[in-house]
Amino acid sequence: STETPKKNNKNKPHYTIVCDVTFPPFEIQAKNGKYVGIDIDLLNQISIDQGFTYTLKPMSFNSATQSVTNGQADGIISGLSVTDERKKVFDFSDPYFVSGFIWATREDSSIKSLNDLKGKTVALKTGTGSADYGKSIQSKYGFKIKYFNDSNTMYNDVVVGNAVACFEDQPVMQYAIKNGIKLTIPKQTPANQGNYAFAVQKGKNSELLKSFNTGLKQLQTNGTFDQIKAKYLGGDQ
Ligand code: GLN
Repeated sequence: STETPKKNNKNKPHYTIVCDVTFPPFEIQAKNGKYVGIDIDLLNQISIDQGFTYTLKPMSFNSATQSVTNGQADGIISGLSVTDERKKVFDFSDPYFVSGFIWATREDSSIKSLNDLKGKTVALKTGTGSADYGKSIQSKYGFKIKYFNDSNTMYNDVVVGNAVACFEDQPVMQYAIKNGIKLTIPKQTPANQGNYAFAVQKGKNSELLKSFNTGLKQLQTNGTFDQIKAKYLGGDQ
């Protein structure tokens, strides 16, 4: 890319990075308001390794992807799935995590298979791969759809009994359930197993993308990335 990144006071690049407002264990807002999680710790360690600084801007996932594609932000880290459709508008880093989509219901739900969703309402999160997946099987299973901007609000709609199910990334739903969200994942095979990666607007911020990839490789080689994952996932990796 021909553009020159903004510089910090050490004359190193400074970037605006967007992330999902809530996507544990990848984006977690701690009690003090600060963000932590696998993505956030990874980005932080990469920035230290590569000598760049950044301003982190948490927002709804849909706004986050849009602010990169319209050039308002330099990069996105957000448990972002690599898809062919998104490759038209993003340049992706090397992959760092494998994940697929699942659906979950209330613990006491009578819904045991997708066939039981006929005529019922399903909660999806706007702009996500799991929402695209849910939409793609909507007519086959005959359910209605309701959209939410963040994962917590979507889970809650199922917990309180409005929607009967939600679609979500498997590790994120498992983490939420482990941490007290009263939902359950019926027996199923995750759909569209794929990769998470960092991304920049297509054709832009090639220096940032290169730094991310170099830093990622470094942290994967020296064990730091394994430590970050273990911190949040323990034995569930
Ligand atoms: N992995 C999903 C996607 O990229 C969801 C990401 C998210 O909700 N933060 O669409």
